[in-house]
Amino acid sequence: MDLTENKSGKRAMAKNNLPKFFKEIDKETWLVEDERDNMKLHYRVKEVISSEKSPFQHVNIIDSYDFGRCLVLDGVMQTTELDGYIYNEMISHVPAVTHENPKKALIIGGGDCGVASELSKYKELKEIDMVEIDEIVVKECIKNIPAIAANAANDERVNFLFEDGVKFVKGKKDTYDIAIVDSSDPVGPAEVLFSEEFYVDLKNSLKKDGVMVCQSQSPIFHKDVLKRTRSILKKYFPIVRTYKAVVPSYPGGMWSFTLASFKYDPLKANLSRLVSNTKYINKEIFKSSFSLPNFMIEDFEEK
Ligand code: SAM
Repeated sequence: MDLTENKSGKRAMAKNNLPKFFKEIDKETWLVEDERDNMKLHYRVKEVISSEKSPFQHVNIIDSYDFGRCLVLDGVMQTTELDGYIYNEMISHVPAVTHENPKKALIIGGGDCGVASELSKYKELKEIDMVEIDEIVVKECIKNIPAIAANAANDERVNFLFEDGVKFVKGKKDTYDIAIVDSSDPVGPAEVLFSEEFYVDLKNSLKKDGVMVCQSQSPIFHKDVLKRTRSILKKYFPIVRTYKAVVPSYPGGMWSFTLASFKYDPLKANLSRLVSNTKYINKEIFKSSFSLPNFMIEDFEEK
């Protein structure tokens, strides 16, 4: 890694070595997320803390002016110190509380360790298997973004399994109480995590009263992914519910999560089990997140 001295005297990435999604604008470094043809998100970068090309993707940790430290994969913002807790709490606590007594959890993806850190707040969980394809992501996040990753790194219940989530679930039967698919966008290594084949194998890895949740993208910019995810899950689970939260660093802010369950309904969850050491989710947020705006209900109008 070619490092040079930067303003703060810290060793930083040499600017000419950075991947193309870092742009120099008026002598400042910006991360330019190429979300879509007509929308590019710019984040002003204080320092590129690390930049590595793994066998799967460009892995970058940046320190930004407005979002704090961030994980960026192939030029796409994944999680930030400013607002990562919103997403990590919503995708973790909802299944952990919907299932009445989860003992064994599976995370697919989750490289920043935010989901594993949130699940570790539930003492009743005995085992948390985190299947992340890219070991470099985990290493870099534990080292450089402890605010998100720390709890997981120090919890002996968390088993880090560095392999493809699609291969891992294949053939697994009746193993997990809750499963969380904390994937990057449906491009690159994560594309397969949005396939019907994967969801069927994931379903089979759940126990008879299992609960799964996946991040189902933006209900505004990625309607097709959300609708397709719902229609697949409705084929295999009696209870499928989408819920929402606003994550400022994600395109369009509003984000969706889709829960699928064999037995437990989140709308009937025992919310007294919700832990209180959270920054975003509480009992009211838990319940209200399932109240959806009309445009989402109309989009879903499933016959
Ligand atoms: N919460 C953030 C979000 O929703 O964007 C971050 C998600 S986390 C960083 C996504 C992780 O999924 C990445 O670390 C990536 O390496 C991992 N991943 C992508 N494809 C995978 C696969 N096939 N199996 C396991 N992990 C995968």
